[in-house]
Amino acid sequence: MTKGIDLYHLQCLDSENDTRQRRLKEVQAALGENKALQQARSTLESTHTQIRKSKVRQHDLELEIQGVSDETTRFEQQLYSGAVKNPKELADLQAKIASLKRRRQNLEDDLLEAMIELEEAESTHSQAQKHLDETQVHWEAQQADLLAEQETLQEKLTEIEQAQAGLLPKIDPGDLATYRALRHGKGGLAVVQMQSGSCGGCGITISPSLKWRLRQGELIYCGNCERIIVQA
Ligand SMILES: [Zn+2]
Repeated sequence: MTKGIDLYHLQCLDSENDTRQRRLKEVQAALGENKALQQARSTLESTHTQIRKSKVRQHDLELEIQGVSDETTRFEQQLYSGAVKNPKELADLQAKIASLKRRRQNLEDDLLEAMIELEEAESTHSQAQKHLDETQVHWEAQQADLLAEQETLQEKLTEIEQAQAGLLPKIDPGDLATYRALRHGKGGLAVVQMQSGSCGGCGITISPSLKWRLRQGELIYCGNCERIIVQA
């Protein structure tokens, strides 16, 4: 014959199992990469891209300035070589040199801008790197905690399983089916203790005849909420 107290213990184990299974799911969902870490990585990657762009721009400008300088030198050599005598040609050469010098000035302004841009990109990059490092440290600590918690939960769940295995042979299969149906239909609370002569589930007063049967060790059910009642 099934004892109420065994069903009560089974319910305690089932409830604890549910709670720990829920937490285990949360822990397992939180293991692995998280959003903050992915975000920090992608920010760092975009600062890398910006640095590369700025460097390419700086290099292109330097090459262009070199080209303009070389051209200027060539024209100046022509101008001062004395080979060109025609006043019109001389004036043309001087105009070309002046134009190239203006062009060089503009390019140097652009280069300065590009250098500032690169400096800013490098500073943004080092901030992003720092942020990623901090996020990583925090994430690693969190992962270690979660892994430890997962292990504890799994150990506890094994213990619960073993305790349930020890308890189940004491329970009549029919009573077990009733218990499971009640637990399912009554929000997980199938077995309640009698509290000051009342049902611990719905609070209704337990009749003297039920109390008497309970004292005889029978499995009794609340006449109102149908839950199994055990002695406190
Ligand atoms: Zn009741």
